Amino acid sequence: MLSAPPRPWQREFNACIQCGICGGSCPLGHAMDYTPRRIIHLAREGLLEEVLRSTTPWLCVSCYTCSARCPGGLKITDVLFPALRDAAFAAGVQPPAEVKKGLDNAYRYGNPFGEGPRKRLEWTKGAGVPVPILRDLGRPVDVLWIVECYAAYYPRGQDNARATARILTALGVDYAILGTEEKCAGECARLAEDIVGHSLPGSVMKGGSLRKLRDRISQKA
Ligand code: SF4
Ligand code: SF4
Repeated sequence: MLSAPPRPWQREFNACIQCGICGGSCPLGHAMDYTPRRIIHLAREGLLEEVLRSTTPWLCVSCYTCSARCPGGLKITDVLFPALRDAAFAAGVQPPAEVKKGLDNAYRYGNPFGEGPRKRLEWTKGAGVPVPILRDLGRPVDVLWIVECYAAYYPRGQDNARATARILTALGVDYAILGTEEKCAGECARLAEDIVGHSLPGSVMKGGSLRKLRDRISQKA
């Protein structure tokens, strides 16, 4: 039996009226073992083992639909799930295998797919327009586009990246991407940030990295 985690969030969720709007609205509800409504119900019943071993907090993509639609204004995305992930980690419960693999890949390769950095630029080949890379330009630009891993590596995301490049070009925006210098922005890791947020220094773009990059480019110009 898992030991009980700190439960300030449980008090807040006593206000839940179990209407089910959160679960019915969640785009990932079909993949979760319990919907957010059921998680709250289980927690209230004291079934913490089920709650902390649930895939639900890990599969949440932070779209905020549940929080926006909850009639009680309960902070499912920002309060409940981070608290549950924290409590699960404190109780020694590992994230689901695919989440863990994505985090491991981000740590090792700078992207959750485990692909090489050179592949990050492959999407640009089919863009139909030149996609400027900051390092090659050697000057500051108005817009630094952080493409991020999904749009750079995943086929459906690559279509979006190509379309975005065409739009930016058509609008005459002075932009550039980082190309192979870009690393995971940490969005997937953010879901588990209490656990791994400070253990991904070399492979994840952070505010500090971007500031350093900006300073470096400003000095060059
Ligand atoms: S939408 Fe809000 S009130 Fe309704 S079940 Fe979900 S958390 Fe509870
Ligand atoms: S914030 Fe998470 S739990 Fe809420 S609807 Fe979006 S994916 Fe589902």
